[in-house]
Amino acid sequence: MLEKVVIANRGEIALRILRACRELGIRTVAIYSEADREQKHVFLADESVCIGPAASADSYLNIPAVISAAEVTDAVGIHPGYGFLSENADFAERVEQSGFTFIGPRSETIRLMGDKLSAIKAMQEAGIPCVPGSDGPVTIDNEDAARIARDIGYPVVIKAAGGGGGRGMRVVHSEAALKKAISLTQVEAANAFSNDVVYMEKYLQQPRHIEVQVLADEHGNVIYLGERDCSMQRRHQKIIEEAPAPGIDKSTRRAIGERCVEACLAIGYRSAGTFEFLYEDGNFYFIEMNTRIQVEHPVTEMVTGVDIVKEQLHIASGEKLGYRQQDIQIRGHAIECRINAEDPEKFIPSPGVIQHYHPPGGPGIRVDTHVYQGYKVPAYYDSLIGKLIAHAETRDLALARMSIALSEIIIEGINTNIPLHQRLLDDAAFRAGGTDIHYLENKLGLK
Ligand code: ADP
Repeated sequence: MLEKVVIANRGEIALRILRACRELGIRTVAIYSEADREQKHVFLADESVCIGPAASADSYLNIPAVISAAEVTDAVGIHPGYGFLSENADFAERVEQSGFTFIGPRSETIRLMGDKLSAIKAMQEAGIPCVPGSDGPVTIDNEDAARIARDIGYPVVIKAAGGGGGRGMRVVHSEAALKKAISLTQVEAANAFSNDVVYMEKYLQQPRHIEVQVLADEHGNVIYLGERDCSMQRRHQKIIEEAPAPGIDKSTRRAIGERCVEACLAIGYRSAGTFEFLYEDGNFYFIEMNTRIQVEHPVTEMVTGVDIVKEQLHIASGEKLGYRQQDIQIRGHAIECRINAEDPEKFIPSPGVIQHYHPPGGPGIRVDTHVYQGYKVPAYYDSLIGKLIAHAETRDLALARMSIALSEIIIEGINTNIPLHQRLLDDAAFRAGGTDIHYLENKLGLK
């Protein structure tokens, strides 16, 4: 087992990784920016290193600073969490070259799957169904884009090959708007991702977002842990996730899960990963792979009993997977609400000091958060301050537990999106299950 690990992240996921390390007897090094001295995991870690000023570019995204922190503390592994450097292939490569273990896939796998076009190509070769599209870059220099759009039919979406975080996407409804959309997305992509390559996909009208969690070790063992439904989104960002996905039966789960396992074998995948699909009319269409732990991993942990972060640490230590496919059973239902420090109607970030904090509890309730009374939510980072997870034997009971938990939780001093979650938990269509990715924005009148 790895002896000492640097947690190259902040917030709830840093605390989550710290707890997994402690269970396995791994010593921990927290790295933090000047704005994050009061982070809970910094207090709890065996060692901590300040790696720079508040701005992410100068701290959590500063590759030499992160690697130096591992060097000065004699750590052996680096866990990147999600966001920040987690899907940066150059970072993973530098970690490998500096003699540390990157707790994730090989850098070449991150590079392959990080470019959405090379990912789609690899998945097509591995027999994974993809969204009808250009299968390559589109430009404004010739008529190819117009021809492809006519073939697949409007609306289409122009997407950045290097995109992420729900950014770098533009829907086009007619040929008249196509060229402008391509050039605008190219400019945006060049600025945001330093890569101006864009491609085209059919814009699906009523899909659900369904994703498959996988785990793969270095010894050719790969398993899938069922699926999650993450269709409740605003601006392509998930806000509620659940497992299993309503209406997906055992044979469908098995068929798509087995395909994902084959794809992992085809690309030599290692560690935890997620295949993201759009699901419409009973068909799955691959959109991208996340080569890291995801925010919504707890719902899968609750229904499978597998600690995905601990498995990542076992795998990075060179061990074999602790589970075979036949060991994986889906038990009950789990729902996660992402709690953001933001205005529940206007979605403006709401940093500040948490004056009062009372977490909910009771059977089947899990709270993954780094906040505490008196904690100051800094203005510099993502607005996620915690995740509320409810697990029960049935979806109805999980929904009931979530509603009760939302009514119990008290976070005062800042605004949060808890009122929005309460509204959604009372929403008839969401309660029935199976709403599509446009549902929330339609409900909020944003479309
Ligand atoms: P990112 O890497 O930025 O998260 P994704 O490719 O995963 O981008 O897409 C994010 C979300 O955007 C999806 O969950 C879905 O809501 C929407 N989306 C992406 N591609 C399409 C498409 N072809 N048709 C309709 N919606 C799409």
